[in-house]
Amino acid sequence: MEDFKKNTKKKIENKIKKLIFKINYHDDLYYNYNTQEISDYEYDILRKELETIEKEHPSLKLHSSPSFKVGSKSTKEKKVLRHKTPMLSLNNAYKREEVEAFYTKNKKLFNNFKILAETKVDGLSASLIYKNRKLVKALTRGDGIKGEDITNNIIFVEGVVRELPNKFPEELEIRGEVFMPKQNFEALNSIRKKNGEQTFSTARNAASGSIRQLDPLITKKRKLMFYGYSILSDSVFFGDTLSETRKILSKYSFILNEPSKLCKNISDMMDFYEYIFKNRENLKYDIDGIVYKLDSYKQQNILGTTSRFPKWALAHKLPAEEAITKLLDVKFQIGRTGSITPVALLKEVIIGGVKVSRATLHNEDEVKRLDLKIGDTIKLQRAGDVIPKIMKVLPEYRDHFQREIIFPEVCPSCNQKLIKLKKEVVKRCTNYNNCDEQRIFRLCHFVSREALNIEGLGEKQIRFFFREKIINNFEDIFTLKNRYKNNLVSLLKYDGWGEKSILNLFESINKSSKVTFDKFIYSLGIRHIGKEVAGILSSKFNNLDNFLRVFSNNNTETLANVEGIGQTIINSLTYYFSEYKNYKLVKRLSFFLDIEYRSFSGKYLNKKIVITGTFDNFSRKYIEDKLKVEGAKITSTVSKKVDFIIVGRDSGSKLHKAKKLNIKIEDEDFVIKLMKN
Ligand code: AMP
Ligand code: ZN
Repeated sequence: MEDFKKNTKKKIENKIKKLIFKINYHDDLYYNYNTQEISDYEYDILRKELETIEKEHPSLKLHSSPSFKVGSKSTKEKKVLRHKTPMLSLNNAYKREEVEAFYTKNKKLFNNFKILAETKVDGLSASLIYKNRKLVKALTRGDGIKGEDITNNIIFVEGVVRELPNKFPEELEIRGEVFMPKQNFEALNSIRKKNGEQTFSTARNAASGSIRQLDPLITKKRKLMFYGYSILSDSVFFGDTLSETRKILSKYSFILNEPSKLCKNISDMMDFYEYIFKNRENLKYDIDGIVYKLDSYKQQNILGTTSRFPKWALAHKLPAEEAITKLLDVKFQIGRTGSITPVALLKEVIIGGVKVSRATLHNEDEVKRLDLKIGDTIKLQRAGDVIPKIMKVLPEYRDHFQREIIFPEVCPSCNQKLIKLKKEVVKRCTNYNNCDEQRIFRLCHFVSREALNIEGLGEKQIRFFFREKIINNFEDIFTLKNRYKNNLVSLLKYDGWGEKSILNLFESINKSSKVTFDKFIYSLGIRHIGKEVAGILSSKFNNLDNFLRVFSNNNTETLANVEGIGQTIINSLTYYFSEYKNYKLVKRLSFFLDIEYRSFSGKYLNKKIVITGTFDNFSRKYIEDKLKVEGAKITSTVSKKVDFIIVGRDSGSKLHKAKKLNIKIEDEDFVIKLMKN
């Protein structure tokens, strides 16, 4: 027996060593030689395999295990390091006069000067540090003084040179912009959308999120690019001017941001601006302006910098992005609370690198204000990250083909007559329980990031499950796994659902079942109960039982005195819980969920308690909930830190361990007393 044990231990150790060897080998290829022999997927499998064995046999985990290492899936935060010289911002100009002032100031100082105009790429700046011609460090701009260490990530960015050509000085710093080309941004978003993941609002956000990943393999998949725009070096190698440096760099096959122009006077500068402004859609990347820089390094040094920006450069920003397109139709969307929103369907147009084919119109009043008709040519604006907005109709384009936008009288989803409630601007469908669109959007809200945050369950998947009658209400989400296991639903027959994706879904449902009380209230999607109100309710009532008692006892006056809870909210809650169906649903949901109560008081505040075994009168979950309300922390492992253990019938090793550690032991009588209090 002993021998057998020894043998298996040896086998496991060998297996661990082999896996570590393999992983280190592939890491080395990857990080030090920028190449790979196996796919990312195969690599992930190796790591998973190692992690699983290590989890099963923690005592055999080696100190040299790559599971400890940064550069892989480490949970450590990024290091923050100081820049050798601060990374400054740029002075901004929006108007031609401001650009003229910049030019005139230079003209007064220098008899002879040139200005290099470049595009201002909308990404995030990074600094690459080279020693002995090798890339040794990369930092983000951060606050300008200190930045985050992105060395492991930057090597997977196209355009970053890891080893400088022999002729280059041994030490230097290259500063430039990391960005995501528009095409890659669109591809990334469409994959994320398909997977039900949150999409990025701009290429800039996507780039910033991608370069700062702790796992550089994710960065690699995101396909970023880098353009250098300045070199910090004393060497004469790079010439006397920016434009010379550019020539040298491109001779050595560096990728530079093009187009650029060496300008002799203000009209050259404005021409370049106009040209870029007109052609920005054709650029491979998003820009937010033009940068003008004094070309000569000597002249740059004479001007110097302020604490925030160099005095020898100016960013000429583009105005809010606008486009002209056509309103093809208006669709009416029913929201989760039955409100009806007109959505403008537009002829697809690109604004600042983003394809736009929809805009919201908010409500009927807005349509009236704009005097908008279907078939109209309109001016669309997108400022920064916000959803595009129709600014105005261009009446000169009106022909005879415009038609009125007619607001429906009945719900486009369930055909029930729409009703304008007192004091409200919008009409709504009040068929709360039987309107499919309302139910779908309520489900979407329930699983959304701010609510239960169930990954992999987005609008697309919800629509699918709803259509197939697999998920009709919140509860169905939690019974899905069992129904699937008992062959009551089959998922494999549908396109896009394989063993793996199904298991992933179950895992994320499981993960999301732990939810704070305020998020739980918010997730129900009751009208007027946003995140803030949910927060107020959760701290006022502490736990679900207290909260529900208000409605079962018809005791809503307790709500009236709570700050931040007005009559509209009270009415809405009363209306919701007056339906017994809703009341029961909420109750039942609490059995599937592990609601976390933030208790600031309670008889067992911060007491660590273990519950084990079977009880005659109560389920374990019930006891747990009761204790949590009293501020207790329920845990499943018996350790010295545990305050007491409650044991039912057939409690095995945990009881044993508790006895050994001399921990106080309670039994069902304790629970009965607890219930009586
Ligand atoms: P801002 O963030 O608006 O203050 O603008 C300064 C930032 O513009 C720099 O930190 C860079 O990240 C970015 N930038 C983009 N393209 C260029 C360029 N060609 N030259 C200098 N800075 C640029
Ligand atoms: Zn309806």
